[in-house]
Amino acid sequence: MDTLFTKIINREIPAKIIYEDDQILAFHDIAPQAPVHFLVIPKKPVRTLNDLTEDDRALAGHMLFTAQRLANELGCEQGFRVVMNCNELGGQTVYHIHMHVLGQRQMHWPPG
Ligand code: 5GP
Repeated sequence: MDTLFTKIINREIPAKIIYEDDQILAFHDIAPQAPVHFLVIPKKPVRTLNDLTEDDRALAGHMLFTAQRLANELGCEQGFRVVMNCNELGGQTVYHIHMHVLGQRQMHWPPG
């Protein structure tokens, strides 16, 4: 059931880690879609956004505020985008919940 993100948490595969604490990990995406593109994940393996529960409120908030802080520390003061893909139609490919944070280029709407 482990995804490759569990392997990154456990240091079984390498990643460029930006931030870690007891609850979450942030690391650069291996295939960046913007000059800044990192992922924020919980250490707890939640499969999709649909699998978050009321008990995860504080965890979800912590992920969001960490995304905000790191985006600004990595030079995205002028703006950035946070994306969470949910399930197949949402474009999710790794079934361990994650926030994408993208910045340092102009974002467009609608997304693809
Ligand atoms: P999703 O498509 O599930 O929303 O996003 C998964 C993301 O994980 C993709 O942007 C993909 O590039 C990234 N990714 C996949 N495998 C690896 C890996 O081994 N290391 C890192 N750092 N990112 C990965």
